[in-house]
Amino acid sequence: MGKKSNGWADILTKVQRVANPETRVTDVLVEVLENAIVHRQKTDGWRSTHVHPSNLWRGERWWYFYLTQVAEKGEENAHSLRRMQNGTKAHERIDKYLQDTELLKDVRVKVVAIEHYFKNETLNFSGRIDAVVEILGTLYNLEFKTAKSSVFKSVQKSGPSSDYLWQAAGYTYMNGYPTIFLYENKDTQEWYAMIVKSNDYVPKVEAKLKAIKEAVTTKQVPPLCDTGCNTCKFVQHCATVQRQPMEALSSDALSGH
Ligand code: SF4
Repeated sequence: MGKKSNGWADILTKVQRVANPETRVTDVLVEVLENAIVHRQKTDGWRSTHVHPSNLWRGERWWYFYLTQVAEKGEENAHSLRRMQNGTKAHERIDKYLQDTELLKDVRVKVVAIEHYFKNETLNFSGRIDAVVEILGTLYNLEFKTAKSSVFKSVQKSGPSSDYLWQAAGYTYMNGYPTIFLYENKDTQEWYAMIVKSNDYVPKVEAKLKAIKEAVTTKQVPPLCDTGCNTCKFVQHCATVQRQPMEALSSDALSGH
C-alpha cells in the first residue's frame, strides 16, 4: 500500500536527499531493515486461530473479526513489531533468571515450568504463561511485565489495568493458580511483584469464551464492544457490518467498500 503524501514536506525531503547523499544512505538502511522485519512477520504468519489471554479483555465483536479474519491485516508495522520483540528479549532474560534459581538450592522457591503452554480446544483458548512457580508450598502463575516509570509507579499505587486483570484471570481459569505479576521498570530496572487481584474476572472468562465461540460457529456478529474502539484495527470494517448473520451481508460490506 502506498504511503500517504505529506505534500511540501515530502518534496523538501526529496530535495534534501538529492543535496545530501549521506541522508539517502541512512534512509535506505532504515527502509530495508524495516522491510526485513515485516517480511519475517509475514513469513512466520501473523494471526492465531485461538483466543489468547493477552487480548482477552477485548470485546466479543473484536474477537469475532479477529478469528474470522474478515478484515485486512493491520499489524504488519515495523515499529510495533520491534516493540513486541523487545518484550520477547526481556522475557528471555527472566527465563534465564528463573533457570538460575535452581543453582541456589533454596527450597522456598521452585520453578515448576517455564513458558508453560496451555490449550483448551473446547473453548478455543490457548496461551503461554511465563512460568509456573511454587513459593512456600503454593503454586502460582508468574507473568513478567515491563513498564515505563510512570506506569510502574501507577501499578505500585493502584494495581494493573483491567486488560491485565483479564489476562491473569485467563491463566487462573485454566489451572486454578493465582497469578503473580513481576514488573520491571524499563527506566531504572527496579522490580515490583504483586499477586493480582483478578477474582472478579475469573468467573467471566468462561462466559466470554463461550460467547465468542458461539458467535464464530453461528456466524452471528456480536454487539458492539464496550471497550477498546480507540485502538481497534477493525474499526473501519466494524462500521460497515450490521449485527446479522454473515451470509446476509453483501459482498461489498464484507470487503469494506
Ligand atoms: S470498533 Fe469497537 S465495537 Fe467494533 S470491533 Fe473494534 S472494539 Fe469492537
